Amino acid sequence: MRILLTNDDGINAPGLEVLEAIAAGLSDDIWICAPAEEQSGAGHSLTLTRPVRLRKHGERRFSVSGTPTDSVAMALKQVLPGPPDLVLSGVNRGANLGDDVTYSGTVSAAIEGALAGARAIALSQVYAREGMGDDVPFGAAREWGAKVIGPLLDAPLPKRTVINVNFPALPPEKVKGIRVVRQGFHDYSRATVVEGRDPRGYRYYWFGLEAIEHTLDHGTDLEAIDEGYVAVTPLQLDLTHHASLGALAERFGG
Ligand code: MN
Repeated sequence: MRILLTNDDGINAPGLEVLEAIAAGLSDDIWICAPAEEQSGAGHSLTLTRPVRLRKHGERRFSVSGTPTDSVAMALKQVLPGPPDLVLSGVNRGANLGDDVTYSGTVSAAIEGALAGARAIALSQVYAREGMGDDVPFGAAREWGAKVIGPLLDAPLPKRTVINVNFPALPPEKVKGIRVVRQGFHDYSRATVVEGRDPRGYRYYWFGLEAIEHTLDHGTDLEAIDEGYVAVTPLQLDLTHHASLGALAERFGG
């Protein structure tokens, strides 16, 4: 089984080391291609307005001077000897729950893998609270990663489906289990803007992440994490709201 690993926190991210350890238990045909720098929040962006560089760090280890999507696309087109069976993206430092998924470079890198026909799984380690910097409790992901990925490998899923996995911010022995849940939503727009002045006196703005109030609807990823479970959510790339097709078509005489 050929596995491609990537990570939106960059080639040197601690979460990528965690993912490498997990993947080593699954196969010995493992390839790594990740952004050279952190790309959190990059979503599914593809670099079109400048060239990107591919750098080789080891026999099967590469970085790309671009986005997570660039990294997967580059791996598929230039690096791997053939198509991957599995694309694993993560383990992200921080949650990718609810509405996070469309901002998420981690989830989007997995989407790029799914578009290429691979089984694709995004993995994220939830922080106990925001602002912890590098102090991410990866223990839950490290211990529970293989238990989650194993049953997903041959699960019957249509093409163009991505699996989004989040690990709760708990020591591994405190994790209660694994729940398959739907995507929840946040109550508030999640980005805050901090205004400051640079050393030359010019104003700048910096988007930040503040504690988010969630609507913990039953059966959602947010609720599962809040209750101490690993959250597993299948996502579809078809964003069409099918129930609205008829009502909208009527507006245009359809
Ligand atoms: Mn990230």
